[in-house]
Amino acid sequence: MNTSYDILIVGAGHAGANAAIALRQQKFEGTIGLMGNEKYPPYERPPLSKEYLAGDKPFERIMLRPESFWSERKIDLLTGCRVSKVDPMDKKVTLSTDDEVRFGKLIWATGGSPRMLDCPGSQARNIHGVRSRADVDKIMAALPTTEKVVVVGGGYIGLEAAAVLTKLGKKVTILETMDRVLSRVAGKTLSRFYEEEHRQQGVSVELEAMVDAFETNEDGMAIAAKLTDGRKFAAEMFIIGIGIIPETGPLVAAGAAAGNGVDVDQHCRTSLEDIYAIGDCAAHSNRFADGAHIRLESVQNANDQAKVVALDIMGEDCEYDSVPWFWSNQFDLKLQTVGLSTGHDHYIVRGDPANRTFSIVYLKDGKVIALDCVNATKDYVQGRKLVEAGLTLDIEQLANTSIPIKEVERA
Ligand code: ADP
Repeated sequence: MNTSYDILIVGAGHAGANAAIALRQQKFEGTIGLMGNEKYPPYERPPLSKEYLAGDKPFERIMLRPESFWSERKIDLLTGCRVSKVDPMDKKVTLSTDDEVRFGKLIWATGGSPRMLDCPGSQARNIHGVRSRADVDKIMAALPTTEKVVVVGGGYIGLEAAAVLTKLGKKVTILETMDRVLSRVAGKTLSRFYEEEHRQQGVSVELEAMVDAFETNEDGMAIAAKLTDGRKFAAEMFIIGIGIIPETGPLVAAGAAAGNGVDVDQHCRTSLEDIYAIGDCAAHSNRFADGAHIRLESVQNANDQAKVVALDIMGEDCEYDSVPWFWSNQFDLKLQTVGLSTGHDHYIVRGDPANRTFSIVYLKDGKVIALDCVNATKDYVQGRKLVEAGLTLDIEQLANTSIPIKEVERA
């Protein structure tokens, strides 16, 4: 490890790794340090709750680049390093080992840590988050001795893990606090469709279920999740998928403006000079959310913000203005989402959910703001342009699946 880098990137996930890649693609010739607290080279995170957990893809197939790539591109990969302090005046970071590393510019790309429950028994060894390879390796190692799994949280992580574990023959119960799954990201129709799908596949989906304790045995292992209404769900394994907490501590302590994440402008610059933030931890004003200051937890956002930072560092004029997109695989259902449906005032279902191929088109003031497409890639690809342009279309035609989305006329 050098004691100084022209560009120091803290966080070696999708955002950080892609920032390093984009800088070299832009012919940046200075030194780059890519620092991560995990011991592995950068890898794709979405497969962790899908193909990796299922055992369908080994780690080598989810690495972002072959291991030799980083040294070939003269990117110093610094694994197993945790930054505990940022000094924006002296332009240096301090690691948990007390080592110091100086920087010309700092890119903060630390993502978040899984939010865990804080209640009696919640520290038990068989209660797992799903965020890193280490988390999922622990889950996989325990599978042979596991029959029943309780998944807390009915977001994408919880549902994807439940789908994989069900396919692996486990008896899964999902405990969700809200009155529907996917409430943060999707409309009610999609929530009901996924609840029904999971139930048909044998998953128990418990809504309005609030865990207030885990019962433990004398070995310190959790044996049941207990709800506020007194019901108990016994299992050998517990998985928590209730969102993340953005990793922003050292930057906030250094004085960076922050709320729900570190605040950044359209160039991904924080309020501290020469310090950028990108990816899951960066709160930015997003045109597709009516300009609201939001964080996006997606590969799209990580990659696109990485490119913006690289261009800004190279002195090119570039602003972050990408349409959000996202995907989720559960059982044989491929969900592709484009845009942000929050705040919609109307929606149309294109196709029949019973056929397992349909799209939900979300509208606001007559404009298409988002689509959730289930096994309907064509709608997703064509719908993307509608969202980007914020078009107002003929609603009857939009609901008619015999008319491709790209041929629907304007209202
Ligand atoms: P993730 O990316 O981890 O799936 P989301 O925020 O998309 O995160 O989904 C998390 C889900 O967990 C939401 O549906 C939310 O309502 C649910 N949730 C949050 N806290 C709890 C809790 N304490 N118990 C059960 N479910 C919870």
